[in-house]
Amino acid sequence: MLTADGLMVFYENMLALNNISLRCDEGQVVGVFGANSAGKSTLMYTLSGIILDIRHKEKMRGGERISLFGDVHYRGEAIGELKANQRARRGIVLCPERRRLFPESSVLENLKIGAYLASRDEARETLGYVLELFPPLKKLLKRAAGFLSGGEQQMVAIGRALMAQPKLLLLDEPLLGLAPSVQQVVVEAIPVIRDQRGISVIVTEQYARPVMPHVDYAYILENGSTVLEGTRDELLDNPDVKSAYFGC
Ligand code: ATP
Repeated sequence: MLTADGLMVFYENMLALNNISLRCDEGQVVGVFGANSAGKSTLMYTLSGIILDIRHKEKMRGGERISLFGDVHYRGEAIGELKANQRARRGIVLCPERRRLFPESSVLENLKIGAYLASRDEARETLGYVLELFPPLKKLLKRAAGFLSGGEQQMVAIGRALMAQPKLLLLDEPLLGLAPSVQQVVVEAIPVIRDQRGISVIVTEQYARPVMPHVDYAYILENGSTVLEGTRDELLDNPDVKSAYFGC
């Protein structure tokens, strides 16, 4: 469905992604794990096309130079030059790190903002779906998003991304800052979304443990490079992965 080959991203002279290759097949959940600054968000920006907007803005304001190399293919099409909104129209939708909701807008408004690519019928149907997926949101629709708990905000952020009718959902650190019990609710939504909606998912996290049971395949990044990759079972059987990422 999506393949990335030889991705390199430099922020000025700083190499943030070093020759990253990755693939996500139709219907897969793919994990990307790595510590702070490993390059997870840069990778998500590169797959979603947002890096092109960031590069453009930096250039306009005379800021740092961002250089990109490598190829991204999606369903047989080279998309490396496509802007984020063009990729979103093709079904690649990013749910960004730290949610980035509109704090003063209501939950319902935040969800509706996501539906800018949906028809009216699709928007109505998907809103119903999001409220079934995350029932706590039903009572919060009129509440300003900024007043919600971290877990509720993450549900809104995922809901907003679903409203954009993704075929490939990019989830950047969805568990960041959430209590373990709430993490579980968010994590368990991932296979449900895949199974019920046929949406493929690439999910990044610092800690592999909560997400690992749900991934088909995973990559481990360190300092912008892939140091390990494999199926869930291959990685779970690997003693290095266990000690580094599961603390056992
Ligand atoms: P985190 O878990 O902290 O979000 P990450 O794995 O998502 O980390 P990135 O945010 O992609 O990592 O950052 C990778 C590297 O690139 C880091 O060293 C970071 O400081 C650097 N970096 C990220 N964005 C920029 C930018 N706009 N300008 C300069 N350096 C950047």
